[in-house]
Amino acid sequence: MASCPRCEASIDEEARYCAQCGAPQTEDAAEELDEYVQRQAEQVAGGGGDGGGDASGSSRFADMADLSDREQLWRRGCYVVGYGTVVVALTLVPAIGSFPLILAGIAILPPIRRLTAEPLGSPLKREVMAGLYAIFAVVGAALLFLL
Ligand SMILES: [Zn+2]
Repeated sequence: MASCPRCEASIDEEARYCAQCGAPQTEDAAEELDEYVQRQAEQVAGGGGDGGGDASGSSRFADMADLSDREQLWRRGCYVVGYGTVVVALTLVPAIGSFPLILAGIAILPPIRRLTAEPLGSPLKREVMAGLYAIFAVVGAALLFLL
């Protein structure tokens, strides 16, 4: 009788695996077990990965849909504010303050933001365009009130 090197249970000389703890007793058995464990691990990892991929994928899609919804809302808002500002500014045209207002209205229009992608590589952030709008609008309003 041989004994299992792992749990020291006596096992048959020719046993490939220990009957007590399942430890492989021959190199063949060890390799077989390794392969089996690896296959199981790959299946678990693959299955888990796929599941995770699906989950993160769908949440990514949800994020994208969410983002594009917000993006569209923002774009619509920019058009409304931009055109509104330009139209209001045009009615004030002889006043110097109307010109910064027109610039503000134009600056916040989404196509202008897209144009900034040409020289810069990527478009300016929406916050930057909103900031530009705010600066021009404040300058225009200040000029209108002060002059
Ligand atoms: Zn054993």
